Amino acid sequence: MALNVYNYLTRDKEPFNPITEGEVKMYVCGPTVYDHAHIGHGKTYTSMDVIVRYLRYSGYRVTYVQNITDVGHILDTGEDRILKGARRDRIEPMQVVETYMRSYLDDMDALKNTRPDIMPRAAAHVPEQIEATEKLIELGHAYEANGSVYFDVKSWENYGRLSGRKIEEQEESGRIETRTEKRNPEDFALWKAAPPEHILQWHSPWGRGYPGWHIECTAMATKYLGETFDIHGGGLENMFPHNECEMAQSEAMTGKNYSNYWLLTGSLTRDGVKMSKSLGNSLRIADLLKQYPAEVLRLFVLSAHYRGPIDISDDAIVAAQKGWERLVGPYNQAKQMLSAGAADSDDSGIDAIIADTKAKFIAEMDDDFNTPKAIAHLFDFVHKANTILNGDVPVAASTLEALVAMYDELVEGVLGLLPSGAGQGDETAAERQDGLIKLLIDLRAQARVNKDYATSDQIRDQLKELGVSLEDGKDGTKYRIAS
Ligand SMILES: [Zn+2]
Repeated sequence: MALNVYNYLTRDKEPFNPITEGEVKMYVCGPTVYDHAHIGHGKTYTSMDVIVRYLRYSGYRVTYVQNITDVGHILDTGEDRILKGARRDRIEPMQVVETYMRSYLDDMDALKNTRPDIMPRAAAHVPEQIEATEKLIELGHAYEANGSVYFDVKSWENYGRLSGRKIEEQEESGRIETRTEKRNPEDFALWKAAPPEHILQWHSPWGRGYPGWHIECTAMATKYLGETFDIHGGGLENMFPHNECEMAQSEAMTGKNYSNYWLLTGSLTRDGVKMSKSLGNSLRIADLLKQYPAEVLRLFVLSAHYRGPIDISDDAIVAAQKGWERLVGPYNQAKQMLSAGAADSDDSGIDAIIADTKAKFIAEMDDDFNTPKAIAHLFDFVHKANTILNGDVPVAASTLEALVAMYDELVEGVLGLLPSGAGQGDETAAERQDGLIKLLIDLRAQARVNKDYATSDQIRDQLKELGVSLEDGKDGTKYRIAS
């Protein structure tokens, strides 16, 4: 079965056909870096990460672009978010941007989200945004008023195509003083005139000012991915007005389709309430990571479909923690059994079980990246694997290696759920641990040869305290880790 995706543009599940065979050009709206990221951002970007990982797993060459908004994202109050952050933290606006961009990248790295290939910053693309604005004026889709430039929504009949909102239904969100200079209340700013005291401002054909929020995504997406690209992703909460405006101005500018597929993620609530700074109920990713491994947070996010909403609560995270421990149990056990030495052959039938699990996993992921169902098949596998690993028949190294390889491929490669440092062919944490224990076993053996029993006992006893018990046999010393 080939990949099918739910496209918000058509409100339908469609076969996925990229513009160039084997290649995917994907743009995702990134964060406005004026505060620390909360777990709502974690949901959006982890969902997008798994989509990118799965596309790559399926053999596509993906170019993944995610912008950093460091100018132009205006609050309902008319205040620029970066300037608000600067006032709150009493630091320079560009220090706000640097501080929270680094914090965001740290959080995303800690959550094991793959870094985008390009992370363009809006403030570094002001000439491109001015150029796009000039072109829209030339084409009659934008007009200048008192040093600001607005997109004329009535000049573009497809405005509303993505969100399904009609112009008449839309509420006015502009500032009082700008309302009078707009032709239609729904017109949105491509460029804003800046008062002299405004810190973030650039020279433009319309005087000094700064770009609007929507135009940055048009300028940067088309610059790095072309006028038409394959996938536009982001959070559903940005579909209107941001994505709608972005699409309207892009298509009005180029006369071509902007993104062929729109993949948008559902929201995250906390105990049933929308998470927001003003309600004081937002959970920072960094704080959650002090309590739970990244993989637990990833499993929590992926246990719901990316398009759907998800509710975070203590119970939900504890359930995810238990689920994760169960999921990685056979992997950890197989690794330990491999280092302790395994049988030459068995008839576990693991190859057929793995082939079946993989086929089911892929079928679910091909169905609009259905992670909850794909993960359910992995749990079926866990059940079967536990029966094999804990049975009376000795398990062969080939069985254990096949199991580990499947975990590396699907559980870590696609979902990023193996314990950090494990998998992906690097010298893993498990291998390092194994090496360290064996080193201590060698040192203990050496101490015994030297009749230094105090040292040999100390090594044995302290390892035992750490949950590692040593068993001396005729083939040397083996170890076992308490689970
Ligand atoms: Zn955007």
